[in-house]
Amino acid sequence: MILILTPDAHPDSPDYQQLLAHLANMPGISTRVHTEAGIEQTLTEIYLIGNTMALPLEDMQSLPCVERVVRVSEEYRVLGRHKGDDRPTHFDYNGVRFGQDTLHVFAGLCAVDTPEHVEMMMQALRDHGQVCTRMGAYKPRTSPYAFQGHGKACLPYVFDLAGKYGIKVIAMEITHESHVDEIREALNQTGSPTGVMLQIGTRNTQNFELLKIVGRQQDFPVLIKRGFGITLDESLNAAEYLASEGNRKVVFGLRGMKTNMADPHRNFVDFAHVPVVKRLTRMPVCIDPSHSVGARTCSPDGILDIMHVTAQGIIAGANMVLVDFHPVPGKALVDGPQALLLRELPQFLEDIRIAREAYLQRAALAGRYRQDQEK
Ligand code: PEP
Ligand code: MN
Repeated sequence: MILILTPDAHPDSPDYQQLLAHLANMPGISTRVHTEAGIEQTLTEIYLIGNTMALPLEDMQSLPCVERVVRVSEEYRVLGRHKGDDRPTHFDYNGVRFGQDTLHVFAGLCAVDTPEHVEMMMQALRDHGQVCTRMGAYKPRTSPYAFQGHGKACLPYVFDLAGKYGIKVIAMEITHESHVDEIREALNQTGSPTGVMLQIGTRNTQNFELLKIVGRQQDFPVLIKRGFGITLDESLNAAEYLASEGNRKVVFGLRGMKTNMADPHRNFVDFAHVPVVKRLTRMPVCIDPSHSVGARTCSPDGILDIMHVTAQGIIAGANMVLVDFHPVPGKALVDGPQALLLRELPQFLEDIRIAREAYLQRAALAGRYRQDQEK
């Protein structure tokens, strides 16, 4: 059960103290307080853990400072959508809003290689009105002999260039807790010219100790990718690990499932799960068409498979697109064969705009039919 307190309920106020004292006296019930400092107000939620089925809603509703009570009916306590639950489905980070009704494109380098390529990428993004990108510094690779990313050495120039071109959020995978400190340090060193969304890659979706550590910090939002060989439920529970530790600025990423049934694609595209994740949880949903398809193959209509699956995700309501681009894919150190070209960026963005418009029209149509049925 979640008690949602009145906005700005102050921990020092007598009412708040009285509430905590009351809860502390309830046998078999423990509590966990979560506060979320927003731009306008601070939101406080108290999670009651234990046999809450026995607690009458009305009694809890009448406690001091309590604005609303939500009975947790689903498994994902913090991130799930519960009955009568109208808590927000968005968060703000570095001036950008991420929600179940927004859409952002994170086009960029799979792996940072040279400052020149980073700058060409960022300049192209700025020229096309983009404020987000992806830039890998820490790369988990199948072979220990493959390029592992430049690590912390590249962070200062990546952040400086992001600032120069007005990039506000960079999605960057981390594979170890020390990477979070390195990113924080490099941001401090460069005067925080940009922001970072930490990415948990598909190989680490169930690295629970990493999830707990990343969940305990609230400086950076987190993009968690679906595990490539586990169920959706298992991946959503992994996301819940982040939130249960305190960080609920979480985006859920679909990137395809590993199975040879996907051939000739690199992974089996799972973007039909976009609306499923939006229904089960309050997380914005990201799609990664590059790691799903894995190649620049093109269908007879002249549209690349990567663009086709992107449109499929967007028309189903996706909120974020993580996609590999490279100024010179032949020189990319990781995933060159799936990178889109800078000259394809305007086509990619326009294609997304068309699919998004179609999605909005579909949602409006569904809304009109629902209204008719309710009459
Ligand atoms: C990536 O986005 O660079 C990546 C490695 O993705 P995934 O974890 O989905 O394989
Ligand atoms: Mn990649």
